[in-house]
Amino acid sequence: MALHNRVSQKELKELLYRETEPRTTLSFYHYFRIDDPEQFRNELYRRFDSLKVFGRVYVANEGINAQVSVPSSNFESFKTALYHFEPLNGLRLNIAVDDDGKSFWVLKIKVRPKIVADGIDDPGFDMGRKGKYVDAESFNKLTDDPSTIVIDMRNHYEFEVGHFVNAIEVPSDTFREQLPMSADMMKDHKDQPIIMYCTGGIRCEKASAYLLHRGFNNVYHLEGGIIHYANTVREKGLENKFRGKNFVFDDRLGERITAEIIARCHQCGVPADNHTNCRNSACHLLFIQCDSCSVKFAGCCSEACYEVYNLPEEQQKSLRKGKENGLMVFNKSKQRMQGLKVLNPGTGST
Ligand SMILES: [Zn+2]
Ligand SMILES: [Zn+2]
Repeated sequence: MALHNRVSQKELKELLYRETEPRTTLSFYHYFRIDDPEQFRNELYRRFDSLKVFGRVYVANEGINAQVSVPSSNFESFKTALYHFEPLNGLRLNIAVDDDGKSFWVLKIKVRPKIVADGIDDPGFDMGRKGKYVDAESFNKLTDDPSTIVIDMRNHYEFEVGHFVNAIEVPSDTFREQLPMSADMMKDHKDQPIIMYCTGGIRCEKASAYLLHRGFNNVYHLEGGIIHYANTVREKGLENKFRGKNFVFDDRLGERITAEIIARCHQCGVPADNHTNCRNSACHLLFIQCDSCSVKFAGCCSEACYEVYNLPEEQQKSLRKGKENGLMVFNKSKQRMQGLKVLNPGTGST
């Protein structure tokens, strides 16, 4: 009984490209108690593998988070296989719109301590008690009331290019830091309605549970996140309270939701909201650059990087030696944090 793949990555990729059948790419997550994640993982693997499902799935005591592709002709059987697990029955699946179905070529299901790392070590914390879901319609209604507080649980570079009107940013680089920080920032508003949101819903759902855990009484979270909200307001012709772009980690680095450009070029300050990675591979900084700066600096973030980028490859290589190069993001949130006080959250920053 093989519960793992035994063929090489290269062969698997070739097999995928030879496949002529279209695939549907989708994602889903659900928080629910899994007592034996290993056994659940194996059962899931057997079912998915028999349907030629590819993708990345994380299983933990607290639930499941998955991004997969399914041969389109197996889609109905896939739903049956997934919904066989009682807590997942009827779960909403987010279908990727412009996707060629070639994102995954192997099935990987991993058991992890958490589906979203949260840094919480309090054993009393329980994902069983979460905030109330709001859909697009009730989000709009609730936020018409000026006493409702809206909190963005994404990273600074995501917030910078697009967010909900009056949303409050939690200025930290990591979700694990944002959790306690959001509770501290809101400590005087424990009875006010608080709506939390993120890209797809997985982070804000946890954040809503965390605020309840910290003694807040009126916590909501946006079902399916910005992605689902944007689709719903479009389909139903509702008012759209999101401004700008929804940052996503694919080749597009963001999906435009409204025509408004709310960010500025990090180099010259003109309105711009295109993220790019600095072309100097020793830098690779993620930052916002306007079209004219992109030409002027050849896609680099600074004069210094532009100079390095223009050196022969050999010389660049020797300059890179021994230097670390993690995910760097242009982030002013640390500085802003110091001066930050939430005096009137109802009419907070836009
Ligand atoms: Zn510029
Ligand atoms: Zn650079």
